Amino acid sequence: MTADHHSGKEVNISALRKALLTWYDVRALSLPWRAPPGERADPYAVWLSEVMLQQTTVAAVLPRFQRFIERWPNVQALAAAPLEDVLAEWAGLGYYARARNLHACARLVVEVHDGRFPQDPAQLRTLPGIGAYTAAAIAAIAFNVPVMPVDGNVERITARLFAIDQPLPAVKKRIAARAATLQNAHRPGDFAQAMMDLGRTVCTPKAPTCAACPLKDVCRAHAHGLAADLPRRERRKEKPHRSGMAFILHNSSGQVLLRRRSLSGLLAGMPEFPSQGWDDAPPFWPDARPFGVKTRPLARVRHVFTHFVLDLEVREGLHPVLADDDLPDGYFWLDPLELSVVGLPGLMKKVARSAGFLD
Ligand code: SF4
Repeated sequence: MTADHHSGKEVNISALRKALLTWYDVRALSLPWRAPPGERADPYAVWLSEVMLQQTTVAAVLPRFQRFIERWPNVQALAAAPLEDVLAEWAGLGYYARARNLHACARLVVEVHDGRFPQDPAQLRTLPGIGAYTAAAIAAIAFNVPVMPVDGNVERITARLFAIDQPLPAVKKRIAARAATLQNAHRPGDFAQAMMDLGRTVCTPKAPTCAACPLKDVCRAHAHGLAADLPRRERRKEKPHRSGMAFILHNSSGQVLLRRRSLSGLLAGMPEFPSQGWDDAPPFWPDARPFGVKTRPLARVRHVFTHFVLDLEVREGLHPVLADDDLPDGYFWLDPLELSVVGLPGLMKKVARSAGFLD
C-alpha cells in the first residue's frame, strides 16, 4: 500500500493490479501489433508501433503500420530498404527524424545485435530513436521485463490514482516514480498495455468516465471529485512565430522544381519546393528571385511545428529554359502528377495544395 499527501489515504496497489488486469483480459483493444492477453508480442512489431505512436494517434498509425509491415515484414527487410523509400512511406506522419532513426535502428539491430532486439531497457536506449518511454514499452510488452513505460496516458492516470495535484512539468519525476510502483512482475506487458488502453478509452484527458473504470474503488482523484482537474499544468507559453518563403517554379514542360533538403536540421532529407528564411540558414534569394526568376505571391500557408508556428508565403514563377544539367545538386524537375508519390512532408503538401497541385 502507498499514500500521497493529498488523499491522506492509502492506495491498495495489489487490488489495483488485479482489477486492471481482469478488465484488460476482457476489454483489451485489438491492435495489429499486439498479442492477445497472456501472450508475447513480436518485438519488431512492438518497436515499429511504438515509434509510430510517438506524437501520433492510434487511428493515424493503424493504416500506416499495416503498409509498413506488409512492405517490410521484419527488421532485416527494413534494414535493407533504401532510406528514401522509408522516408517516402513515412510521409505525412510528421517528425521525420523518427523515420531516419527508425531506419538507423533497424540497421544497428541487424548489424550489431544479430537481428534481435535487446531485452534490457538500458541497452534498448542506446539504439537510435529509442528514449526512456519506448525502451520501457518494448522491454515490458515484447519481453515481459517489469518496467513501466510512462507516457502522457500513464502520467495522467497515475496523477489521478494518487491525487497528485502539484502542476506538471515540475512534478513529472514524482509521478513517474509513483507509476513505477504500480508495475507487476507477473504480467508486466499486459499491465503496461492495460494502462495505455485505460488512458485512451476511460481515463481520458477531459472527461474521464469514472463510473465505467475498473479502478474507481481505489482511485483517490475519483474519491475527491478531482478526476477531470488532474493532472494540473503550469500555463504553456505561446509558441514563437517564424516566417519564410516557398517558391513554385515551373518550366515550359509544365514541370515544377523541387529539391531535397540537407540531411541535418528540420525536415532533413525530405523533398521540398525551394524555400528559405524559416529554418536556421540565411535566405539564399533575399530578393525573392530564385535563379534570377521574377516571382509573384500566390498564397500563404501556416504550419505548426513542435517548437514554432510557421507562416510561409508561397510565390510562383516561370523558368522556361533551366535544364536539369544546370541545376545545383539536390534540385530536380518533377511532373506535378508525381507530387503525391514523392513523399512530401506535411508543410510542403500544404504548399502544393495552395498551388492547386494536390486535393
Ligand atoms: Fe481515471 Fe476516474 Fe478511473 Fe480514477 S476512477 S483512474 S480518474 S477514470
